[in-house]
Amino acid sequence: MAGEPQDDCLFCKIIAGHVPATIVRETETTVAFRDINPQAPTHVLVIPRAHYPNAAELAAAAPELAADVLHETKAVADEEKLDSYRVVFNTGPGAGQTVFHAHAHVLGGRGLQWPPG
Ligand code: 5GP
Ligand code: ZN
Repeated sequence: MAGEPQDDCLFCKIIAGHVPATIVRETETTVAFRDINPQAPTHVLVIPRAHYPNAAELAAAAPELAADVLHETKAVADEEKLDSYRVVFNTGPGAGQTVFHAHAHVLGGRGLQWPPG
């Protein structure tokens, strides 16, 4: 069923506590934790607790949950005292998505170039 935990999903395992992660924020519906391979001084991933394979499916199936994720990106930016930052949802392998549980990257703490390439 849509949103159910998946046994083979790394981020579902982090939510369940079966894979360790440095968690920075938790809400009823979301978890935020530090990326294992940070691309900036702050690099935090915000995920919904429910499993959707990417941001498009999350937005289509559970728009209020997608809004919760976006809300948490702002909370992370505030906690990390970021005045400028970038929120990225890589969606699909062609866009660099490697973990197929929807997630927002929150990147900041250094200058960020645009376009990203
Ligand atoms: P994607 O490439 O799918 O947009 O982003 C997946 C992110 O998950 C990558 O930035 C990668 O470094 C991060 N990641 C992969 N495995 C782990 C892990 O075991 N723990 C944490 N905290 N992050 C991970
Ligand atoms: Zn998952």
